[in-house]
Amino acid sequence: MDDCIIIGAGPAGLTAAIYLARYHLAIRLFDCGSSRAALIPRTNNHAGFPDGIPGKELLQRMRDQAARFGACREERLVTRIEPKKTGFAVHVEGGEYPARAVLLATGVVNAFMSSGATGYDSKVWESLTHFYDTRAWIPRNVTFINKAALDSLDKPTQEAVLKAAKVAEERGWKLWENKTEWYHDEIKKKGMKVLQPSPELAAGFKKIGEQLTADWLKRSGAEGQAVIDAYKKSL
Ligand SMILES: Cc1cc2nc3c(=O)[nH]c(=O)nc-3n(C[C@H](O)[C@H](O)[C@H](O)COP(=O)(O)OP(=O)(O)OC[C@H]3O[C@@H](n4cnc5c(N)ncnc54)[C@H](O)[C@@H]3O)c2cc1C
Repeated sequence: MDDCIIIGAGPAGLTAAIYLARYHLAIRLFDCGSSRAALIPRTNNHAGFPDGIPGKELLQRMRDQAARFGACREERLVTRIEPKKTGFAVHVEGGEYPARAVLLATGVVNAFMSSGATGYDSKVWESLTHFYDTRAWIPRNVTFINKAALDSLDKPTQEAVLKAAKVAEERGWKLWENKTEWYHDEIKKKGMKVLQPSPELAAGFKKIGEQLTADWLKRSGAEGQAVIDAYKKSL
């Protein structure tokens, strides 16, 4: 059993790791890799660096220092912490780790893009106050089938598959409508403001979408263009 599992390897978690590991405690350090410090071009207020230091370099130095004492950062997303009779079980995808103590150094989030569903699942109201309903991500259920596989079926089976797919698609869209409203209501109940995006924000997203589509079309060629044309026609 580890003495302490530290969740988050930004400056806070790494500082804790250096101190605790230096005192010969068994430390495990889980991090899912999005320290805000990595975004700092050059920080000028970190003690010991009078000429400043880029955020990425600071993180690397701190990781190296922690590793010298045996606390190595492991790229893992912690999904749950379970209290046990003695200590805790820390759950990551594909495993759980026992620890006498758990130290949370998970930082804060300024903003992020997700569906209402992910916002609800990740308890977005704990970090943020506003949710803009941009519909950038929507949960959908779509039935896919390989065209060659479909063509290889006899006519009655093809018809049965297409009929079932149509029912599934209608059910999927209905579920999406109900679920989207439900998630928005739930995050409202938790105190978040659910708003429509301003014209500027909507125009910004449109521009990003156009750029992403243009980049994709460069790679996908005529076949991609046909997909986009069909999509635009259906709007
Ligand atoms: C553009 C920019 C410039 C900045 N400039 C400065 C500056 O000049 N000076 C200054 O003092 N501060 C600056 N800051 C602020 C500084 O980056 C933060 O104060 C600092 O990074 C906070 O450190 P932290 O360790 O608390 O959190 P973070 O650095 O955010 O680290 C938290 C870590 O926890 C991990 N994590 C979260 N949840 C989980 C989970 N469930 N499982 C596993 N890992 C998880 C994340 O992946 C992340 O790596 C700046 C921030 C930004 C965005």
